[in-house]
Amino acid sequence: MTTDSTPAPVSNFLRTIIDQDLNAQRHASNRWSGTPGPASVQATAPLDRARIRTRFPPEPNGYLHIGHAKSICLNFSLARDYLGACHLRFDDTNPEKEEQEYVDAIIDMVQWLGFDWQFQDETNLYFASDYFDYMYEFAEALVQADLAYVDEQSAEQMRENRGTLTEPGTNSPWRDRPTDESLRLLREMRDGQHPDGSMALRAKIDMASPNINMRDPVLYRIRHAEHHRTGNKWCIYPMYSWAHPVEDALEQITHSICTLEFEDQRPFYNWILEHLRDLGFFTDPLPQQYEFARLYLSYVVTSKRKLRQLVVENHVDGWDDPRMPTLAGLRRRGYTPEAIRLFCDRIGVAKADSRIDYSVLEQALRDDLDPKAPRSVAVLDPIKLILTNYPEGQSELCTAPVHPHHPERGVREFPLSRELWIERDDFREEPEKRYFRLYPGNTVRLKYGYIITCTGFTKDENGKITEVQAEYLPDTKSGTPGADSIKVKGNITWVSAAHAVPATVRLYDRLFSDPHPDVGDKDFLSLINPHSLDTVNAWVEPGLVADPGAYWQFERLGYFVADLKESSATHPVLNRITTLRDTWV
Ligand code: ATP
Ligand code: MG
Repeated sequence: MTTDSTPAPVSNFLRTIIDQDLNAQRHASNRWSGTPGPASVQATAPLDRARIRTRFPPEPNGYLHIGHAKSICLNFSLARDYLGACHLRFDDTNPEKEEQEYVDAIIDMVQWLGFDWQFQDETNLYFASDYFDYMYEFAEALVQADLAYVDEQSAEQMRENRGTLTEPGTNSPWRDRPTDESLRLLREMRDGQHPDGSMALRAKIDMASPNINMRDPVLYRIRHAEHHRTGNKWCIYPMYSWAHPVEDALEQITHSICTLEFEDQRPFYNWILEHLRDLGFFTDPLPQQYEFARLYLSYVVTSKRKLRQLVVENHVDGWDDPRMPTLAGLRRRGYTPEAIRLFCDRIGVAKADSRIDYSVLEQALRDDLDPKAPRSVAVLDPIKLILTNYPEGQSELCTAPVHPHHPERGVREFPLSRELWIERDDFREEPEKRYFRLYPGNTVRLKYGYIITCTGFTKDENGKITEVQAEYLPDTKSGTPGADSIKVKGNITWVSAAHAVPATVRLYDRLFSDPHPDVGDKDFLSLINPHSLDTVNAWVEPGLVADPGAYWQFERLGYFVADLKESSATHPVLNRITTLRDTWV
């Protein structure tokens, strides 16, 4: 489904499972009408042309983050590599926290990452809320089969009677009520005759099960709440653990891949599907759930609740703040979809949780951008350099390759004149040991220009250096025969003061100063790095066109992108994506 070519995938335990299933022709008899539905919809349909079906099922209650990217890359790549389909399914069964804004943002981000939900002529974009009628129909059937009952205990009583890891639970006094009484009450629940929390529909399994998830889990609860898609049609909403297997089965999902914390839910997932199969709603082979380790990345939080808090309490400038680990934030920061896919390939898929260092993400970005990014020059912390023997009012062009390893991409030209901007850090009044750049009496090369010798400097009344003076050596211009006549150890970047373009540059650091802000009950807000954003007025190479999204490697400084929202040709606003090397210690 990605358009560009990707290297052969590295195997993992999920690919091994799929290989085995395909060899055993496990899903060869699957049928697919093109529309989600139970056996009545699929039984007479043609054989499914998709060899496997996976799905990415976000809840539209927030923006996607880098952890979701792992799941997206995994599910969509498996479908692509095995000639199958991956569905984008909005798990919108919870009326209160979900909004259209999030649906739109999720669609945007999955596409940006380079994936789509098209399989041949099918568009596999689904909403779990479209299945509410089926879910309700199946619930009535479970009641009639004495596999579910309406419980009138309060939520608190249910909690008390659930037992613990070491003690069994206690049966509800309503557990053995007649099935037609449960059926009548379920219908009354649906018809809005009972207030929130007054009763719930529960599966009838085993209150003594060692797996607490099997102790009569709740299927439906009453919520008199408006849903962003179904409005006020429903006042009962399915619980996630009940809705999820049904959604998978209606969509003929073959491999339902979720994160490790759902491992204990798998017996219930199977219980639901096997009983609905026995009741005639589904046929074998049923979807199978598999679990993989979620991504934990150092220096970021990925809980949607915490991310929302950062936004709502204005600790950051919105969901797409370039410091956020949201995909919208990473995009604005300058991360490319290729870099994020490369990162997901590199971290792989495992069955045990582990933490990935943030530097792995940054390195993927560098490895993606290094061969692509055109080179340019910027001066972020400028100080004037006067070439005292260069004629006033004169200028000449210097040239540099667009990319040092790709001569076919041509050269860039920029003027040199008497007054230049250089980095303040490239000058010392008194050099420390092994300092090879400018200081009085020292000789360095102006990169792509002349060799110069520092002759003096000027300070203001506060002792701050305001200007450096130097003389250039006329026969030493880069690219001319005299260029190598003098050997120098220092090489500094510069822009011509009269020609350089002013730019606002944002230098980002990590949003948290603690490597594990997400762990345990740490007060993550107190761990915010107060220096995560530094905005400077910089000078950039003339000719740089700061169209939003354009990126460069500024020599010696790192990778930069023109901000998607705020940059314009007349006033560049640039974000530093990352430095050239890992400077974080
Ligand atoms: P939260 O608990 O913060 O709300 P969530 O995991 O419930 O996040 P969903 O929208 O339900 O968010 O997630 C959609 C899919 O993305 C799920 O299948 C989930 O397993 C996967 N996912 C979410 N976070 C991660 C992560 N950190 N690593 C890998 N997959 C993830
Ligand atoms: Mg969730």
